[in-house]
Amino acid sequence: MYERRPDLRTNRISAGRPINLALSDRGWRGLEKVGIAEEVRKVALPMKGRIMHDINSQISYQPYGKEGQAIYSVSRGGLNCVLMDLAEKQGVEIFFNEKCDSVDLKKGNAIFENFETQKKTEVHADYLFATDGAGSAARLQLQLSTDRFQYSQQYLEHGYKELCIPPTPQGDFAMDPTALHIWPRGSFMLIALPNMDKSFTCTLFFPFDGENSFNALDTEEKMMTFFTKMFPDAVPLMPTLKTDYFENPACSLGIIRCFPWSYEDKLLLVGDAAHAIVPSTDKE
Ligand SMILES: Cc1cc2nc3c(=O)[nH]c(=O)nc-3n(C[C@H](O)[C@H](O)[C@H](O)COP(=O)(O)OP(=O)(O)OC[C@H]3O[C@@H](n4cnc5c(N)ncnc54)[C@H](O)[C@@H]3O)c2cc1C
Repeated sequence: MYERRPDLRTNRISAGRPINLALSDRGWRGLEKVGIAEEVRKVALPMKGRIMHDINSQISYQPYGKEGQAIYSVSRGGLNCVLMDLAEKQGVEIFFNEKCDSVDLKKGNAIFENFETQKKTEVHADYLFATDGAGSAARLQLQLSTDRFQYSQQYLEHGYKELCIPPTPQGDFAMDPTALHIWPRGSFMLIALPNMDKSFTCTLFFPFDGENSFNALDTEEKMMTFFTKMFPDAVPLMPTLKTDYFENPACSLGIIRCFPWSYEDKLLLVGDAAHAIVPSTDKE
């Protein structure tokens, strides 16, 4: 297995992409089928319902399912670390800092460049599984080198930014950790998912342009005025809001579709490389 990034188990995951994700029944079924659900449960926190925070700081609760049912907050880093440990136990060798540049489709070779040494390596495999995400280098190769390859990329008007609610000074969760918290505000929203370290990772889904947008909130004063009005009960829980807001990137949200997902019996696109969708939209 070749991975562009360094080993997460010895390097901290970078901010920018939400450091946790919601795992639901469909995800658990996949993990159960490959026999690793129990290991993943160790880094997962159950969220039995959603707590909605209105603009007057009133909260309401909606359960996600029947007794005992929940969706789970899982750390991306924690999940990846568990998956890598388990893969290595099965004999998989992982090469880090290796960025796939291109694929030689005819030979079934992938060409990697090492970030540290800049050394290029051409690797042959009987089957290449490209799981290199929405910006897949392997998919680009299919676009460049095959006839009638279908591809579309559609960006939303909204992007997202990671913010944080740390543990209280007493070391507790600042809100109920058994729920996914949502501050729905029509054309934008803030959400918060609990982490094992008793913090919450918040994600602001927000338009890039317009009256209420990332581009409009370009000073501390404008941002704080807006947040205090829109998310009055969240702001006191966010001591690092100013730094988080201005230092964390506003990331784009896009939908990618393509077809076919394979090339002869040599290459298969898997995951976001084949089909990237956005977490919540009416477009897909
Ligand atoms: C804001 C947001 C919130 C989301 N929330 C959820 C959620 O709550 N629940 C959920 O199930 N899904 C969620 N998703 C979707 C989910 O994150 C993706 O579907 C999932 O991460 C796709 O996994 P993947 O392995 O295909 O790609 P990725 O997670 O993108 O992983 C790709 C891997 O390939 C590596 N890589 C990339 N390019 C190269 C290269 N050229 N050479 C070598 N390695 C490379 C990367 O470093 C990375 O390790 C969310 C997505 C977004 C944007």
